[in-house]
Amino acid sequence: MRKINTVKGFADHLPAEAALFTRLGETARRTFTAYGYKEIHIPVLEYTELFARSIGVETDVVQKEMFTFPDRKGRSLTLRPEATAGIMRSYIENSLFAREPLSKIFTCGPMFRYERPQKGRMRQFHQVDCECLGDAGPVADAEMILMLMDYLCNLGLTELTLQINTLGCERCRSLYRETLTGYLLKLERSAFCEDCRRRLEVNPLRVLDCKVPGCHDLSAAAPKLFDLVCPDCREHFNSVTGMLHEAGQEYSLNHRLVRGLDYYTRTAFEVVSGNIGAQSSVAGGGRYDGLSAALGGPDIPGIGFACGLERLCLLLPENPAPTPDFYIAALEEKSLGEALLLAQKLRKNGFTGETSFNRNGIKSQLRKASANNAAYCLLLGGDELDRGTVMVKNMRTGEQSEKKRGELETLP
Ligand SMILES: [Zn+2]
Ligand SMILES: [Zn+2]
Repeated sequence: MRKINTVKGFADHLPAEAALFTRLGETARRTFTAYGYKEIHIPVLEYTELFARSIGVETDVVQKEMFTFPDRKGRSLTLRPEATAGIMRSYIENSLFAREPLSKIFTCGPMFRYERPQKGRMRQFHQVDCECLGDAGPVADAEMILMLMDYLCNLGLTELTLQINTLGCERCRSLYRETLTGYLLKLERSAFCEDCRRRLEVNPLRVLDCKVPGCHDLSAAAPKLFDLVCPDCREHFNSVTGMLHEAGQEYSLNHRLVRGLDYYTRTAFEVVSGNIGAQSSVAGGGRYDGLSAALGGPDIPGIGFACGLERLCLLLPENPAPTPDFYIAALEEKSLGEALLLAQKLRKNGFTGETSFNRNGIKSQLRKASANNAAYCLLLGGDELDRGTVMVKNMRTGEQSEKKRGELETLP
């Protein structure tokens, strides 16, 4: 029979990698709950319109990268490319804003993009995502950035750089868009890549973060939004960076940091690692004060970030191997049942370990106990079975002693 493989662009996470994912998720829960964040679970599938309206029809994500298909009744559905839009939909649909005017929410799970799969860019990938909804002030921005850095620090990651920029408000951004378009249109059109020639018309800001070297050079001398933001936006930005400085958090300004999504306003940030080459961004986020209203909700400001778990995995050292307390070796067919009962009792008492499923010789059983990294090997042969005892061997020191099975409630 022909064997069946994974769908293209989808990957298994085998136990070693899954253990890293668990660590990323548990550290996220521990860190974010310390800041008053609560976990939320939202569906991976939404109506396509949600993403078209929130992310913006003229973005690369919506134009080219969404995992979209019709259901059996012809309605267009999309596997979520990111979590913010779905969280916002849920926030509005469930009137969370009425119950908790300031909502701090996080989630963790798979996201999907329909791109040509390549190393490190699968169609299903995973993110940790935090959103703080209901406050427009700079303290919310500073706390969110510090919380993200705290998370990465709690994972033991170093050599990270925080980059920050301001995208201005709708007012200063539309002014900047005109200035930038004027500048870019004076340049030779053919010098831009094909995507950027389209962006020139519909989304000129995206030209700034085009990765094609030619475009990068062309936009290098472009006027900077940072120099043109309105006084309110500048004050907001200065407050945020001032608080980061007070908190001892280093940062660098990145004028090219425009983020791919239309709904960002004011603060935008990204954390970059020097350790994983070209795909160096491990987390990114920003403020999106207009998103709730754009989705038919009340006018409520928000800020959030997402971290790519696959990229974080590349930076994490492997988890240490588990160290169970015991391995129970049944040396006779007839001691298999007793070994199982003994293992159950020890686990009830809080110990961890395995029991052999098959009778085997003493040498191979001890090898198994040592391969498992068990602290003790409990040997159960015919003699021990008859005497109602078990031989307890300390795998570190080699010492062994015979114990009454009924009285063995704890390991030495
Ligand atoms: Zn402004
Ligand atoms: Zn380009």
